[in-house]
Amino acid sequence: MVDISRILEIFREEGRPEADSMLVDRAFVFAAIVHEGYKRISGAPYIVHPIDVATRLAEMHMPTNMIAAALLHDTIEDSIRDPEETRKELRKEFSPDIVELVENVTKLDFKNPHADKTRLFGIDRYVENLRKMFVAFAKDVRAIIIKFADRIENLRDLEVLPPGKRLRIALETLEVYAPIAKRLGIAHFNVELEDLAFKHAFPEEYERVAGLIVGKHDTRGGYLDQVAKKIKDRLDAAGIKSVVSLQARTKHFFSIYRKLVKYDWDINRIWDIFAVRIIAENVPDCYAALGVIHSLWKPVKGRIKDYIAQPKPNGYRSIHTTVFCDDGEFVEFQIRTTEMHEEAQYGVAAHWRYDENKGKKQKIPQKQVNWVQELASVQKEMENNKEFLETLERLKIDAFNDRIFVYTPKGDVIDLPEEATPVDFAYAIHTEIGNKTTGALVNSKNVALNTPLKSGDVVNIITDKNRKGPSTDWLKFVKTNMARDRIKSCARSPLSNFIDLIKPGKKRK
Ligand code: MN
Repeated sequence: MVDISRILEIFREEGRPEADSMLVDRAFVFAAIVHEGYKRISGAPYIVHPIDVATRLAEMHMPTNMIAAALLHDTIEDSIRDPEETRKELRKEFSPDIVELVENVTKLDFKNPHADKTRLFGIDRYVENLRKMFVAFAKDVRAIIIKFADRIENLRDLEVLPPGKRLRIALETLEVYAPIAKRLGIAHFNVELEDLAFKHAFPEEYERVAGLIVGKHDTRGGYLDQVAKKIKDRLDAAGIKSVVSLQARTKHFFSIYRKLVKYDWDINRIWDIFAVRIIAENVPDCYAALGVIHSLWKPVKGRIKDYIAQPKPNGYRSIHTTVFCDDGEFVEFQIRTTEMHEEAQYGVAAHWRYDENKGKKQKIPQKQVNWVQELASVQKEMENNKEFLETLERLKIDAFNDRIFVYTPKGDVIDLPEEATPVDFAYAIHTEIGNKTTGALVNSKNVALNTPLKSGDVVNIITDKNRKGPSTDWLKFVKTNMARDRIKSCARSPLSNFIDLIKPGKKRK
């Protein structure tokens, strides 16, 4: 469909002001003129693509400026026109906010044939592109949300590309985009990015996972529906009226794949292939539903997680429990309120959702903002490509490994990669605490600084203010980026702690 009728329909349903519809219509007309005569590799008229991206964002109820910017997101580069001319016209026609958003999305683009006159190849090109991405990303998180929608649309068209390019885009999605989406709590994007890219990045593995899951489905036809019906009846009988929806599903393919790799492809060791999600109107009913589930089926020890009382560091809230369900299957239940569900699906993006009654916007959780800033600072600290690559390698590991959640003595949650040590923990709290660490208590017991931490551990760091700085021996066992960088930077300059103290804003060399 080469028009924006779907977007306008959504706007009407939401009751957005007429001016908003007029704005997206102007953006559409502008983009249609600029892309005129330009085609997608599939042969389709180019304008179809920005419409798809913008529609996707409209369906997520994103703000009007983001939707307008999505319609315009490729106008600077994917046209036979001179990009500078287009830039000038954009500035004449649209607000500075929209133009800047379009510029930031453009910078996130990995091709860029006009701006990138010094053509880079291979790893250098990759690094250069990632650097650009981090800078634009740190400036405006809205740009990356548009970019996620853009990437999903591009992945859907991937078949038409040559195999090499297809593989590069698929891997880049798994290594960069999906972990960032996950870290920002946008499950809605993360799941789709992973499953679309997985098929192209690892076709054989994809088939193998699909075969295993389909096999399990065939032998268990209708199983989840039966479980869902049973729990629905019990919830009704218990008088829990506020359940708004009950979703039975299997976990998404890429996440099953990662678990299979970890468990030697033994599908019977994966607890949560079958999952049932219960969405209730309020918190008391979430706990009441948990009680109903546990009275029906026995919970598996260690698999009850109350992320409502203790949210995950990315803000995720839900109660999880895995039970020994009917016919010897394990089923994971996730229980949450409507509000928590929306946040889990949309993460950072939830806070931009259009709601005419909302008045003022909700703020993004500080922890998510912190992570965005940390990502940006990583980029600044790189002195050369090699260091940047090393950091990326580690960022990737940080993003890919399963996370553990450990606690400060006050009960704050710290999010670390698996196998992280008390030193990683200390640096995650504060650089100065890391630098002055002399020992650690884990669950009140004295432990060596290289002891791997486990989820749920309460960690108390012992510091000595007279300690000169970190030991370079720690580099042998620390797992996080942050700890490694801080230890190295102290090793490079013994005075760096001192410099930090007198000039807090000074960039370390
Ligand atoms: Mn695009």
